[in-house]
Amino acid sequence: MQTETATATASNLTGSDVPRPLSHFGSSRRDILPPAPSQADTASTVTIASISDQDWYVSRTHGVYHIPSCAKGEAFSLLLITSRGDAIDLGDNRRYPFTITAREIAEDLLQDLHDHGIFVCAGARPTTEELSSATARRDAYYHRLIGEGDTLWARGHSFREISDLHRRAAMALGVEREWAYVPMRMSECPACGEKVKTGVAVCKHCGAILDAEKAALHGLPAGAGLGRNAGATKANPAR
Ligand SMILES: [Zn+2]
Repeated sequence: MQTETATATASNLTGSDVPRPLSHFGSSRRDILPPAPSQADTASTVTIASISDQDWYVSRTHGVYHIPSCAKGEAFSLLLITSRGDAIDLGDNRRYPFTITAREIAEDLLQDLHDHGIFVCAGARPTTEELSSATARRDAYYHRLIGEGDTLWARGHSFREISDLHRRAAMALGVEREWAYVPMRMSECPACGEKVKTGVAVCKHCGAILDAEKAALHGLPAGAGLGRNAGATKANPAR
């Protein structure tokens, strides 16, 4: 967009920011005026509203924008966007000043985020209609993701096929899916060979101390053999 405006005004630039030497020093062609902003985009601030339970960070040349997550119990979160002045350096002491309007910035930030329930408000605050259409759009997206997760899962019941996006969609809509659970990391107990959760202090199968330091922390005597089930229940008193 910037380049388009620049080429329209300074037609001697052929679509790039690379300056061309001008033959007439002090010629009037040096004075490049910023284009008048269009009527619809003149608001100096616009509001971005989010119903997403995630924080989003969007990085642009003019800054990193943080769209805060919508807190539990809240209907939405807001981020105010302000228009920015910028300038293209054309070289030869010529600068081409222009304004990126708040709405342009906001629309650009949200290009990939609409499906997550994030939108630019028409007014200063989101309306009920805007919020409900954002919810409908996000839910439709999540349903698509869940369908995709089902398809991927059906291929080979592999957790590796399922992305966080799929899992979040299922959890957000409260949909029960086998694939939506984060697989627990398991290790083998060196004493009995049974599978135990990675990082536990005691083997729940044979009672072997797997991490003496951690076991001591939980009040378990190092090296002491524990009863089969006693070890499993008493190993985590702090939790
Ligand atoms: Zn064991």
